[in-house]
Amino acid sequence: MKLLLLMPDANIHRIKFGSFSMSFREAPLTLTTLAALTPDGPEITLIDESIQRVPRNQRFDLVAISCLTGTALKAYRWAKHFREQGSKVVLGGIHVSLCPNEATEHADTIMTGFSETTWPQMIHDFIAGNMAARYDGERGDVSLLPSPCRNLQKRFGYAMPHAVSATRGCGCHCSFCSIPAADYGWQTRPVEHVIDEIRQFPARRFTFNDVNLLQDRDYALELLNALSPLKKLWGGLATADSAMDDELLIALETSGCQYLLCGFESISAVSLASINKKFNQAPDYKRHIEAFHQHGIAIQGCFIFGLDDDPPDIFEKTVDWVNELKVDIPRYAISTPYPGTQLFKLLEKENRLLHRHWTHYDTQHVVFQPRHMSPEELDAGFQKAYRETFSLKNIQARTKSSPHPLITGIGNLAYRRYLKQLQNDRGRIHRKEAS
Ligand code: SF4
Repeated sequence: MKLLLLMPDANIHRIKFGSFSMSFREAPLTLTTLAALTPDGPEITLIDESIQRVPRNQRFDLVAISCLTGTALKAYRWAKHFREQGSKVVLGGIHVSLCPNEATEHADTIMTGFSETTWPQMIHDFIAGNMAARYDGERGDVSLLPSPCRNLQKRFGYAMPHAVSATRGCGCHCSFCSIPAADYGWQTRPVEHVIDEIRQFPARRFTFNDVNLLQDRDYALELLNALSPLKKLWGGLATADSAMDDELLIALETSGCQYLLCGFESISAVSLASINKKFNQAPDYKRHIEAFHQHGIAIQGCFIFGLDDDPPDIFEKTVDWVNELKVDIPRYAISTPYPGTQLFKLLEKENRLLHRHWTHYDTQHVVFQPRHMSPEELDAGFQKAYRETFSLKNIQARTKSSPHPLITGIGNLAYRRYLKQLQNDRGRIHRKEAS
C-alpha cells in the first residue's frame, strides 16, 4: 500500500532563492506524527509543498491531505487530482474540523479533531475495504502521541528544522483565533516524553511549536527545570504577561530559551478588549520586553491591523511603538476572520465578508470590510508598516539592542526580503467568491 501524506503550500512567510524555498517557520509535526501513528505496512511518502514538489504523476492508494483555511482550496484541487488518478483521499486539519460539510464534498473521508485513535482506525478500515466517510477524533489524548517520524521529513528548507510539542490547545478565548473555535481544550504531555524527544535532536537548537507553552505555570516550571541539564537552546510561543513572573523568567533563561514569539496584537486598549485579549496591557509592553531582554530572551512581536477599533493612523503609531519598545523581530498580520471564530460570526452577521476565497484567509490579505477604513487603505497601511519597520536603519538599531543580534539580524533581513514578495503579489484584494 502506498500512502502519501501531503501538506499543501501556505505560501506565506516563505522566501525564495531561485528554485530553493525557505519557510520561516519550524518543521511542522502534523505529517510526521501521522506517519508515526500509521500501523506497520504502508510505504509512506511525506510532502510539505511549501518546500517540496508534489509527485503529481506518482500513483498512491491513499492520499491524506492536512489543510488550514489558507490552504483549503489548494487541498481540494490536490484531492481532485489524486481522486482522478484512482487514489482514495482523506482530508483533515483544522479547516476540516471547522468546515466539515464543505470538506466532505472533496474527499472520500474526512477526519475532524485529533487523530491519535482515529488515524490508526481509519488505516485499518481502509486496508479492510470499509473506510467510513467520517472520523471524529475530538480533543484526542496527547499522552498517546508517539514520537514523530522526523526521519521522513526533509530537514533543509525550514528556518527551525527541529521542533517538538509539549502541550495542546490554549485556555484563552481570543475572538480571532481558530484554536478556541476548534475546541482544542488544553492538555499537556508527560514531561519525560517531551524531554526524551528533545534529547534525541541531533542539534543543540530546537523550537517548541506549542501555541501557549507557558499557560500552565506548574507544568511549565517542571518542563523548564527538566530541560536545563540538557544545555539546549530553544524558542517558542508564549503570552507577553509571562514576563511578570520572575521565577518563570529565571527558569526560561536557565533552560536555554533564546527567543519567544508573543502576540501583542495591538497597541490600543480598546482594540485589545474588542478581541477578548484584555490580559494584554499595552502600557506594560515596554516593561515586558525589557524583562525578557534582561533574561537573554529576544522577542518576536506580532501585531494585527484592521481591528474594528483601529483608527486610520494605527499603522504609523504601531511602527513607532515597535521601534520604541525594541521588539527584536516584529511581524504584522491583517485581521483575518477564520471560519468558526467569534470574529467570523460577527463579520458574517454584519455582512462585511468580501468573499470566502479561503486562499486569501492567510493574515496577509484583506478579506473583509474594516470599520474605519477601506480594504485598500488597510492593505496599503499594512505594507507601509512593513516597509518602514524593515528599513535598514531600523533593522540596524534593532539588531544592536537585541540580546541575540544574530537571530534578530537574520530574522529582520528575512522579513525585509519577504516584503518584496508582498509587493509583487498582484490582485491583493479579491471581492468575488472562489469558483
Ligand atoms: S491567540 Fe494565542 S492566546 Fe489567544 S486563544 Fe489563540 S492561542 Fe490562545
